[in-house]
Amino acid sequence: MNLKALDILNNVFGYQDFRPHQNEIIEHILGGGNALVLMPTGGGKSLCYQIPAMLHSGIGVVISPLIALMQDQVDGLRQLGINAAFLNSTLSYSETRHIEQQAHDNELDLLYVAPERLMMPRMLGLLDRCDLALFAIDEAHCVSQWGHDFRPEYLKLSVLHERFPHIPRIALTATADEPTRQDIIERLQLQQAHRYITGFDRPNIRYRIIHKNRPLEQLLSFIKNEHRGKSGIVYCLSRKKVGATAEQLREKGLNALPYHAGLSKAMRQQHQARFLAEEDLIMVATVAFGMGIDKPDVRFVAHLDLPKSVEAYYQETGRAGRDGLNADAWMTYGLQDVIALRQLLESSEADEKHKRIERHKLEAMLGLCEITTCRRQALLGYFSEHLSAPCGNCDTCLHPPETWDGTVTAQKALSCVYRTGQRFGVNYVIDVLRGKDNPRIEGFSHHRLSTFGIGKELSVQEWRSVFRQLVATDLLAIDVQGYGGLHLTPKSRPVLRGESQLQLRREKPSKRTNRQKISLQASPSTPLDALLWEALRTCRKRLAEQQGVPPYVIFHDSTLKEMIKYRPQDKEQFKSISGVGEHKLNHYSDEFLAVIREHFGKNETNDGDTSGNGNVVAVPIRNATDDHPS
Ligand code: ADP
Ligand code: ZN
Repeated sequence: MNLKALDILNNVFGYQDFRPHQNEIIEHILGGGNALVLMPTGGGKSLCYQIPAMLHSGIGVVISPLIALMQDQVDGLRQLGINAAFLNSTLSYSETRHIEQQAHDNELDLLYVAPERLMMPRMLGLLDRCDLALFAIDEAHCVSQWGHDFRPEYLKLSVLHERFPHIPRIALTATADEPTRQDIIERLQLQQAHRYITGFDRPNIRYRIIHKNRPLEQLLSFIKNEHRGKSGIVYCLSRKKVGATAEQLREKGLNALPYHAGLSKAMRQQHQARFLAEEDLIMVATVAFGMGIDKPDVRFVAHLDLPKSVEAYYQETGRAGRDGLNADAWMTYGLQDVIALRQLLESSEADEKHKRIERHKLEAMLGLCEITTCRRQALLGYFSEHLSAPCGNCDTCLHPPETWDGTVTAQKALSCVYRTGQRFGVNYVIDVLRGKDNPRIEGFSHHRLSTFGIGKELSVQEWRSVFRQLVATDLLAIDVQGYGGLHLTPKSRPVLRGESQLQLRREKPSKRTNRQKISLQASPSTPLDALLWEALRTCRKRLAEQQGVPPYVIFHDSTLKEMIKYRPQDKEQFKSISGVGEHKLNHYSDEFLAVIREHFGKNETNDGDTSGNGNVVAVPIRNATDDHPS
């Protein structure tokens, strides 16, 4: 154990213990080694380069893809009393000069730059003259074309090992399947680097995928029943839908804003800043939004459209619950999603090899949607991680879906597709199956087919669910370049011949689910705690506004919750709250202690207090052996 590193963890960050791998990584980097770090979002990657950079005499250079977020990252570090700065195009010439001078004079622990800036001769020249501790390459999956956020500038990062071969490099990411990992290793010359891979699991995120029915109503009831007044992200595929959905949520009285690449840069920045600063804002966005957003208290991520791959789904849902408190990943999904994504894929200009990979990725995503066993096991399995038992915190674990023998039903569907000539879309085939009175059907003489009216036992909704499952599992294919006509596939034949059985999922109306793990609850449970919670939040908001930073930069929700739980009465006790380091102790303890004292003075003077002076008897403060609550 590196005692100096532990000292920084305790006294600067205010945390008690390292999480798995953090200490090893820090020591490895301090020893001059390179590292590839795969840790889930919220896992604590940043400390792995921040602490070595602080312990080393020189500067830690952090390469981070998003200029818009550097301010936020640096604000957070300055709140801890760490000398951090960024260099990017938002700075004036004199500000830039000032920071360059600070770097040159070795007055910084951490310097954030975007890859484009790093390549500039002026920047490289500056780095040549600086004492360097390390290079940290954040969001390292951006270097890979197989990754889902490829950034051409990242390819040029080979300059790091070529020009600065003796400076340790640490590449970090939260999502990389095996080909992406290989790419990172090759492109950044990390063959000799130590790999640190912690589990991908995000146990506090509850996964739920429901069938799409009336998506907007479904979304509204999800938000209103489970996340009223909370921060969340709603992902949609198109800009148009983003705009419309944000509008509709606003009409329903929710604080929602749109975000997509079609908005002006100024508006995007403004919306992003509001998302970080406000505690109840819902961002309705395309995938253009979210990378690098480390707002800790995003309570839900909702998908109104299907993501293109499991990586994208994992990355997007991973933006929920970075603070470790309960969060929801919620999605509505229907047949139309499958068609839309396949259409998008086939009409893209990518070459055949690329398309094949994309198809494969989409199949895996569909598999996750249709699965009737634990979603987390499947999700982790995709990243080659084995979870031995079902998780108990996903929809299929909490409400196991009913399955039924759909063999005969599938045969009816497949043969109806065949007999109508394999060129009609789902709605038409369903009409034929249900024997609907329809002039088009008569026009084609399909009312004389043997399959006309053989499927009256199922409703239109039920048939749509059957077709969705048949298409998702490739028992039927859709002509996505034409008019969406259905046709049989090589996999259809065994089902038609009765050689294979088919289990289908029965859709049920989705139910509200109750939280089980109380300790992870994102809101307090008793009315008195709720009052204190609001008072602490008000105090935090005031301090944040005074300094022009987001509230969570002052303290995370989890730190406020600890204040409620342990009710610190003085500075000494306040210091043992997780998330309180020396800098924050000196700057904020008086104000928060005053709120706590006032609260108990007002509300609990008769509650077991025998001292007679109106002060509260504090519950014993946590000691080092206590469990860490969430
Ligand atoms: P990511 O891996 O997504 O970059 P961060 O580095 O932002 O995650 O860490 C997520 C949160 O966990 C941050 O609030 C961070 O301060 C906190 N954290 C990191 N390490 C520890 C630790 N050892 N103990 C307690 N909290 C920690
Ligand atoms: Zn599960």
